[in-house]
Amino acid sequence: MTEFDNLVSELKPGIVAVLGVPFDENSSFLRGAALAPQRIREVLHSGSSNLCTESGLDLRADKRWRELGDLELSSGKTVFSQIAKAIATLLNRDMRVLTLGGDHSITLPILRAYARKYPKLNVLHLDAHPDLYDELDGNRYSHATPLLRSLEEKLAARLVQLGIRTMTPQERERSKHFGVETIEMRYWHPDISLKFEGPVYLTLDIDCLDPAFAPGISHHEPGGLTTRDVLGIIHDLDVPLVGADIVEFNPERDPLGVTAMVAVKFLKEIVGQMLG
Ligand code: MN
Ligand code: MN
Repeated sequence: MTEFDNLVSELKPGIVAVLGVPFDENSSFLRGAALAPQRIREVLHSGSSNLCTESGLDLRADKRWRELGDLELSSGKTVFSQIAKAIATLLNRDMRVLTLGGDHSITLPILRAYARKYPKLNVLHLDAHPDLYDELDGNRYSHATPLLRSLEEKLAARLVQLGIRTMTPQERERSKHFGVETIEMRYWHPDISLKFEGPVYLTLDIDCLDPAFAPGISHHEPGGLTTRDVLGIIHDLDVPLVGADIVEFNPERDPLGVTAMVAVKFLKEIVGQMLG
């Protein structure tokens, strides 16, 4: 048994677990996302805000969720199997997991674990980018590729993408080929409501937001969602939210701490939505 297995075996089954995955080796432009989980926890517990969700839950007193700190990772190729194994360990105890990235490449091993537990998984992907590159800089596991790899491995019964505002012609073709449902940003309106049947996994790339709301990311892509749009999407889910990740927050681009607070807000509201 590893230290992580020991920790998990002491947790109550069925809780919501928040796990940091400080890994950014598959970033293409700037590193820094590996610093995010630590920074998010710092701000969460800074006393700047209380831990109440908009629905009225006080997470400080709620024993149905637990922070597990950061996953201990090596580097290179073995990291994906370490991530998948840790997530599977949590899912085997019927937990719902909110993972704090890290760059977006970590979503592939997370979904590998989720797909085994939930064969009919809906994946809701919020991002400026569809992340359907076949490779970037020769890396098939770059943070620009996780959704294409997930489709190839049939990890999602349905993939819905929202916030998309920069798509290569090749990505557009792949999207069509795999039947991805895309709500491009130019057609987004807050009255659009998403309908799902069965469990949903939310993968939330912070750059889905307009950089005005969240400048602490590596790839600024103007013209994005508002923080309130994303909160509305989370709150409106009327099927079980069984897992989520918040990825691509880069504390090195966040001198005022604005983006850290946005990530904290999403953490609270996602945990609140999972607890119901
Ligand atoms: Mn992105
Ligand atoms: Mn992404």
